[in-house]
Amino acid sequence: MSTSPVQTIDAQKLYENALISIQLGIEDFEESERASGNKARTLSSVRNLFAGMLLLFKYKIAASVNDPADAYAIIFNHPTIVPESDGNGGIKWVPDGKFKKTTIDILGIEQRFKGFGINVDWSVIKQLQDCRNHLEHLHPKHTYGEVSGFVAELFPVLSDFISNELGLVPSDVLGSAWDTMLAHKDFYNAKLDECADSWELASVPSGAEFYLSDCRCKMCSSELLMAAQEDLDLNISVEHNEDQFRYRCVNCGYADLIAPELLHAIYVTNYQDSRDGSEPTLEHCYQCNHDTFLILEQKCAWCDAELEYNACEMCGQALTQEEQINGGLCSADEYSREKFMRED
Ligand SMILES: [Zn+2]
Ligand SMILES: [Zn+2]
Ligand SMILES: [Zn+2]
Repeated sequence: MSTSPVQTIDAQKLYENALISIQLGIEDFEESERASGNKARTLSSVRNLFAGMLLLFKYKIAASVNDPADAYAIIFNHPTIVPESDGNGGIKWVPDGKFKKTTIDILGIEQRFKGFGINVDWSVIKQLQDCRNHLEHLHPKHTYGEVSGFVAELFPVLSDFISNELGLVPSDVLGSAWDTMLAHKDFYNAKLDECADSWELASVPSGAEFYLSDCRCKMCSSELLMAAQEDLDLNISVEHNEDQFRYRCVNCGYADLIAPELLHAIYVTNYQDSRDGSEPTLEHCYQCNHDTFLILEQKCAWCDAELEYNACEMCGQALTQEEQINGGLCSADEYSREKFMRED
């Protein structure tokens, strides 16, 4: 009778591979910046960086137990055990046949972290994952601006994880990759601030200001969009010249109208498909003529127009734009009132 050998995992190997992957990712990143959007390098950068981060997480999990066999057990997925007929009216429990030996994915890491009390900001990790998936599935030519934001956001995640969870000094661990990321993050955040400041002179409609940070360059998907200096010099504004006022992308130099990007951001954030029977969330605004009136908030997301009468004086029901002509009554109560007056 033979027993299968106990499988083990070398945590140190995971650590080394994590660092190699992150360093390669930063080299790719520098190369893609130099070649201004080298597609292959951009994708390779984000893949390597994301994989490196996950390897570092797996290293932490594996290093949390003393026995290398335990480390193996918690890093690899386990087959699902499913019941099958034993052919005699009974059942037997067997591993699911389709099972392939793989290491745990991001969901598995999240579960293990919970179990071992390891902390990271999962909302940021999920954002990074979305960005990576986005780059994988879309034509990378139009998204290379995103890698810049990716690296800037990854930096604090790695930095905190290495200091707080591994108890190491991030600059020692990552070497020159650390310096590159730190410089990039500072540069990137400074540019983000500059972009935000530039719009203060552009008279963006008050409701829409909130959505500036959701706008992306049409050419490269970067979020680094500035108010176009030429348009500021012309003294035009987004509020009054929405078919003229442009953004200029700091990342790739492309310029285009900002209003459609803002309207798109408002739509994406607030639109709810009402075909499933739920209440529609957006409608045409009587003030500014955009489809940006938030029905439930009773306020326009573009021009900030609000209702004069918010609730029906009779029944308390929330009023719509359409019902404003009733002077404070809902349609049903207005109808009863008119009927009563006619009968009088
Ligand atoms: Zn761009
Ligand atoms: Zn409006
Ligand atoms: Zn009413």
